[in-house]
Amino acid sequence: MDFRLTDDQRALQDAARGFARKRVAPIVPEIEKSYGVVPEDLRREYGKMGFLGVNYPKEYGGLGFGKLEALIVLEEFARTSAAVAFPVFEALVGPSQTILHHGPDWMKRKILPKVTAGEMMVAASLSEPDVGTALTDMTTRAVITGDKIVINGTKRWLSGGGTSQGIVLYCRLADKPGAAGIGAVYIEKDMPGVSFGAAEQFVFNLGVRNSEVYLENVTVPVENIVVPAPRFKDLIGSFNIERLGNATMGLGVAQAALDLAMSYTQERQQFGKPLCEFQAVQLRLADMATDIEAARLLIHRGAFNAAAGLPSIKDSSMAKAFANEAVRRVTAHGVQLMGAMGLNKSYAMERLMRDSWVWGIGGGHIDLHKINVAGELMGRRFSQR
Ligand SMILES: Cc1cc2nc3c(=O)[nH]c(=O)nc-3n(C[C@H](O)[C@H](O)[C@H](O)COP(=O)(O)OP(=O)(O)OC[C@H]3O[C@@H](n4cnc5c(N)ncnc54)[C@H](O)[C@@H]3O)c2cc1C
Repeated sequence: MDFRLTDDQRALQDAARGFARKRVAPIVPEIEKSYGVVPEDLRREYGKMGFLGVNYPKEYGGLGFGKLEALIVLEEFARTSAAVAFPVFEALVGPSQTILHHGPDWMKRKILPKVTAGEMMVAASLSEPDVGTALTDMTTRAVITGDKIVINGTKRWLSGGGTSQGIVLYCRLADKPGAAGIGAVYIEKDMPGVSFGAAEQFVFNLGVRNSEVYLENVTVPVENIVVPAPRFKDLIGSFNIERLGNATMGLGVAQAALDLAMSYTQERQQFGKPLCEFQAVQLRLADMATDIEAARLLIHRGAFNAAAGLPSIKDSSMAKAFANEAVRRVTAHGVQLMGAMGLNKSYAMERLMRDSWVWGIGGGHIDLHKINVAGELMGRRFSQR
């Protein structure tokens, strides 16, 4: 077993780290203050550098690398801030991956080159006002009549609601209960019948507008089906890469917290010596580093095991649940180690603590992923009903 990165992977990591630090980090304070998003011209720069196409074939403007390389790049952006990493997250592990793995050829040719170039973003719309964890209860309905689909319903919590040009919309595509009736359709934000609610207010900045989506007789050709019903397993399977990406966003946040805690505890003095010379401080730093390395190993293993396919449920749920809890522990230690400064806006630690929470809620909460792991261990699914 060789845990070292290859020369190519290290080169990609260095390139992402250098770009994120020099070109992107300077805009983080302003983006955070204004709850803003990455400006479009900068997003196109991400695209020109290849960061939005790491794991896409060259025919779609990608670099032709695999998932591991994509996650290595994503971690470097997340280490700078979750907000500036979001376009990378959405392109490399978001719904464009569902299009890549399951969408029709025309859709791949039309959408993916624009995604990898940073010309457009594609959002994933699953949640509804009454449907969070119980995804298979969704009610948004797409009725197929001849060569057209007519969609009606209300979606919630859409990251990119009103800003992402494309949306992979999860909906009822067949008159069957539960998962059997669910498929996905590609729609665009400017289509007649599509409108968005007010921007949601969160305690952190994910770098996107998040809102409800209202669908009133939205009509698209049947060719816009990304995954037909009943292929829920394929549809949700393509989400496993998103789960490793979610875990990686938390990992980047955790690494940033350790970086800051390391420098702060070496500079700040109490009782006439740097904080890092107190053994209790060292124990916290060691716990932080161990959590981070364990999370990274689980994430990288999930990506490695997937090879050219999609990560398994066990690998992706285990990595996500662990990393989601680890980043909360790590940033809590970080705040504690900085005392009052950990809670003050002069340093990034308070932001990292706020940014640590969302990963264990979005993309399926921590307990759900632990239930997935238990199901995989026992070779059965546990009904939540
Ligand atoms: C910042 C942010 C961005 C998001 N972006 C998107 C997006 O782009 N697209 C999208 O579709 N959705 C998005 N979501 C929604 C996200 O997917 C949901 O929040 C998530 O699925 C959980 O649903 P819920 O919030 O309705 O929680 P609920 O389902 O109401 O659950 C609340 C809590 O109850 C407990 N619980 C629920 N069910 C179980 C169970 N079976 N077993 C044990 N415990 C349980 C858990 O502790 C859980 O955290 C986003 C959410 C956030 C916070």
